[in-house]
Amino acid sequence: MVSEKELRERWEKLVETLADEGVVKSSSVRNALLKVPRYLFIEERYRSYAHVDEPLPIPAGQTVSAPHMVAIMLELAALEPGMNILEVGTGSGWNAAIIAELVKNRVYTVERIPELVEFARANLKKAGYAGKVIVIPGDGTKGFPPRAPYHRIIVTAGAPRVPEPLIEQLTPGGRIVIPVGSYHMWQELYLVTKTKKGEIRERRWGSVAFVPLIGEYGWSG
Ligand code: SAM
Repeated sequence: MVSEKELRERWEKLVETLADEGVVKSSSVRNALLKVPRYLFIEERYRSYAHVDEPLPIPAGQTVSAPHMVAIMLELAALEPGMNILEVGTGSGWNAAIIAELVKNRVYTVERIPELVEFARANLKKAGYAGKVIVIPGDGTKGFPPRAPYHRIIVTAGAPRVPEPLIEQLTPGGRIVIPVGSYHMWQELYLVTKTKKGEIRERRWGSVAFVPLIGEYGWSG
């Protein structure tokens, strides 16, 4: 078994490499990644691969994203302290914990698979984020109206289109980062902005590969 010290050293090296490559651009994302290593959010048997820059399996046939992908999405989101954030697709809870570090605020995250709701809650508790990240079971394509509007919405599964409820639950000046495209692991990363006047702008940031977003305003399953 790899020691905690070794896991941490490998993780720090990966974060520095991502920074050297220009994937991690801001010191805030760099520090948050260093503070929340991926090995705390995966099963024991995959822990020694946590620093490998690729997606890894989590229960229920889902994945935790590659570190470079998480960094790209967080940089696009341009998170700031005090923001109200919704994540759709909790998975392991890792990305939500990093978001909590960046906004220094409670983060709401929705997950449709009950087994992963439990997995993420257990990981978050172990890592010290139990009260800081609220995992909500359900269909995140409908957003989470009780805590709306959100300054940022980060979707970590691939959608056929931008779900309308997420646009409605965004503040003027807010952003959605979301992969949009096909069901089978090919999408483009969209940055959707709602202007102060309420107009919607979309920019595309290249090809990505995510598991499908399944729900009323996503894929039918
Ligand atoms: N952000 C996660 C992490 O840090 O581990 C990785 C997310 S994984 C790539 C995508 C997740 O989206 C899966 O856990 C999947 O069950 C979830 N998902 C898919 N459709 C969903 C929906 N409509 N609402 C909520 N979660 C959904």
